Amino acid sequence: MTKTWMSRERWDALVRGEDCLLCEVAATLTAPDAEDDYGFTIAEMSAGILRLQKNQYVAGYTTLISKRHVCEIYEFTPAERVEFFADLARASHAITQAYDALKINLSILGNSTPHLHAHIIPRYYGDPSPDAPIDPWTEKRYLADYTEPLRLIRAALAQIP
Ligand SMILES: [Zn+2]
Repeated sequence: MTKTWMSRERWDALVRGEDCLLCEVAATLTAPDAEDDYGFTIAEMSAGILRLQKNQYVAGYTTLISKRHVCEIYEFTPAERVEFFADLARASHAITQAYDALKINLSILGNSTPHLHAHIIPRYYGDPSPDAPIDPWTEKRYLADYTEPLRLIRAALAQIP
């Protein structure tokens, strides 16, 4: 976690979509299993790309990245809002089922990458932060193989309308 904001010039450029990492992801990593340093694509959904994070400190931690570069939810068209939040609901349901999660926490932050994306963070009974958010970056925990988590989430997703 960084303690200072990036330069204002850099921030303004990112908000405009210049040199935006998530625009790149949305344009190039739509295929199942597409990989970058941060994760693997689970599925291309209606308005977002669903990705499993490589850091699985919280098992099942995924992100839903808007296909279109917007910074805030109010920049979506009404139709995009419906689609994005429907994607988010389906993804949350699938992850709950695939991981037997107790609860799903959602966070839309974007203070370092101002391209709309939601963090989907499953919560488990007995986890170390019952009355507060859990930081999925508390530790880095990488898996030897992501095949099974990807398969489980896709199988659950396929059952959810
Ligand atoms: Zn972008």
